[in-house]
Amino acid sequence: MTFKNITIAGSGVLGSQIAFQTAFHGYSVTLYDITDAALAKAKTTLLQLSKAFKTDLNATEAQLEATFANLKYSSNLTQAVKNADLLIEAIPENPKIKIDFYQKLAAVAPQKTIFATNSSTLLPSEFAAATGRPAQFVALHFANEIWKHNTAEIMGHAGTSTEVFEQTVAFAKSIGMLALPLHKEQPGYILNTLLVPLLNAATSLLVNQVADVQTIDKTWMAATGAPMGPFGILDVVGITTAYNINLMAAKTSNDPVKIKTVAYLKENFIDTHKLGVATSEGFYKY
Ligand code: NAD
Repeated sequence: MTFKNITIAGSGVLGSQIAFQTAFHGYSVTLYDITDAALAKAKTTLLQLSKAFKTDLNATEAQLEATFANLKYSSNLTQAVKNADLLIEAIPENPKIKIDFYQKLAAVAPQKTIFATNSSTLLPSEFAAATGRPAQFVALHFANEIWKHNTAEIMGHAGTSTEVFEQTVAFAKSIGMLALPLHKEQPGYILNTLLVPLLNAATSLLVNQVADVQTIDKTWMAATGAPMGPFGILDVVGITTAYNINLMAAKTSNDPVKIKTVAYLKENFIDTHKLGVATSEGFYKY
């Protein structure tokens, strides 16, 4: 089956980007959110995204006009999913909200619709039963700023059908993504499985006073040829995210390095509102 109609559920940071990218590549896209107010906000975000597509990708006025013409909006789930070949879910990273959403979706979606979750930290097997169609459920994980960082990690759960998996890979390629298939479920997919230990190692070197920020980043960049070191990356990701992840780990593990990291991030960055690139200062100034 070749997809034609795509529904994106959740019109926040990632949902807006996925919707715009998909519409830009010629699909008919319906953006769904729980309130019209959320959709009104998304329309402003989409306008900003169109500017980024112009600057970063040299998109023409005609292409952008066609993109907006491909976009529809709805706060009614039944309407939003009526003709969908594929629904991509980008709603909050909260298992309760997602399970409730999939149960409601299962009741109104046509039989043909494939469901894909963009969840960063939750596994598709956690929601497979709630979807009511486990064979047609897969994870399709994008990175923030998808028009520039065009990775799409595709990960099934044990019950995902091979055909659905392959169709999702083909869809990802068709919207300009670098499709990265995983052969089994893995928390954090490939990217975060690699990245999180690097960032953790960097913060533990820092809070244990082994070396300073600049030296740690310089070591990584000079030795591997990477354009950015771990603290540069943390500034891009946002220090609030790093803080929340460490806070959760400190609570569950009682690890003294984690506890030290939490205190360090709170005092130097959270309390002073130096949250990374987004606030013009984090480990570095921008
Ligand atoms: P966000 O908070 O920016 O947006 C979530 C949107 O979902 C909001 O517009 C909200 O109104 C809407 N929403 C809430 N409940 C809903 C429901 N029941 N039905 C439909 N819409 C609902 O969140 P985000 O950062 O875009 O993250 C969304 C998902 O994408 C998460 O699973 C997250 O892990 C994943 N993700 C985020 C990033 C990122 O960098 N932000 C990157 C990759 C993946």
